[in-house]
Amino acid sequence: MCFRVAMFSLHTSPIAQLGRTRDAGGMNVYIRELSRELGRGGMYVDIFTRRSRPDTPDIQQLSERVRLITVTAGPIEPLPPSALHSYVAEFTCRVARFAERNAHPYNLVHSHYWLSAAAAAPLARAWDTPHVTMFHTVERLKGQQQGLPLESASAPKDGPTAIRIESEGRIATSADCVIVSTEVEGEQLRRLYGLAPSHTRVIPCGVDLDAFTPISPARRDQARRALGLGATPTLLFVGRLDPIKGIDLLLESVAALRTPARLLVVGGDPAGDPEVERLRARAAELGIAERVRFPGAVPQRDLPTYYHAVDAVVVSSRYESFGLVAVEALACGAPVVASAAGGLPSIVRDGENGLLVRWRCPRAFAEQIDWLLSDDTLRERLRANARPSIEQFDWRRIGDRVRDLYQELTTESARIVACSCF
Ligand code: UDP
Repeated sequence: MCFRVAMFSLHTSPIAQLGRTRDAGGMNVYIRELSRELGRGGMYVDIFTRRSRPDTPDIQQLSERVRLITVTAGPIEPLPPSALHSYVAEFTCRVARFAERNAHPYNLVHSHYWLSAAAAAPLARAWDTPHVTMFHTVERLKGQQQGLPLESASAPKDGPTAIRIESEGRIATSADCVIVSTEVEGEQLRRLYGLAPSHTRVIPCGVDLDAFTPISPARRDQARRALGLGATPTLLFVGRLDPIKGIDLLLESVAALRTPARLLVVGGDPAGDPEVERLRARAAELGIAERVRFPGAVPQRDLPTYYHAVDAVVVSSRYESFGLVAVEALACGAPVVASAAGGLPSIVRDGENGLLVRWRCPRAFAEQIDWLLSDDTLRERLRANARPSIEQFDWRRIGDRVRDLYQELTTESARIVACSCF
């Protein structure tokens, strides 16, 4: 029997250019890679996303058994997530119509981010299938990392954020299972929404171990030359240029370093992105303009060269539900310095495969980075431990765990239907 999954990625396409805008990063990679893995294992996956450009084909074959279905809901132009709630119902109707026309019953619905979950929930009910959801970020957990208390009293009473908070609460309790990428996030969600442990499932995000691989020191020198780095110690940031990533803190840390290291900020659009301009201006204010480069977003296939070339990858985020950049860097054998925020401590173990910074202050980051740059033995130890520490995140293993969950839920719902026939 063929198993069909309806995957929902309403606000951002899994094939959008990564890191250029604030809306295309880890979640896009997750949906693309998970779908590919499920397809490889024999499942059929249709990923539904919203049309933001007029020339996108309705149906694109992404990989074996995986299709990307683009449906029109709201104006055909890029819109930020905060403007999309009004088009969720239209999106739901379009997906329902597509499914009817194609006469493909889906066995399970898997939604990503609260907008997708809001669109998917009525369809899961109408199709009588289990609904698995993954929030990727939860508004109240994000707020907590920025100093707001977890209790709902602190939540805004209206506006897009209030709608999101209310919607996340409803979905968390009504979906059949919430996938979380770390035990800590599971615990926080259970506490926040009073969920039973069986209602959440911890399945980390995966990494493509064939694309991200370590290389020999000689080839690392080649990678440095390819990026024109020379001998100056070089740090790397990779990601969406979002305040949550703590890039300001990273710039301040670079300014506080004893080692005059250079920083590459990969992400954003160097031509005309206001956030790049703001960060450039901040670097100038701190007196480090000469030491900070903004090459813009880099296609993921070229990122291994960056991870190989640099002396350390710094992940200075205020909040990360997981932290794919840290995993990719470790897969390439790069030394990582990360803040002890969100899911990062489940990836980076202090002193073993990287360094964790517990204090959100430039001096604390600068101290750890200086230590790493000045201690060759430490760097080599971290490099040696990096790759084995993340092999558990191999997509093949993660795909199996998601598949097992799907099978469990569908068997369970079939059992409930069978029982209700008597
Ligand atoms: N990424 C990329 N090119 C860029 C910037 C980011 O390919 O210029 C990718 C990166 O490889 C990673 C993802 O975007 O897979 C970012 O994921 P992460 O979990 O670190 O952050 P998120 O976007 O989920 O906050």
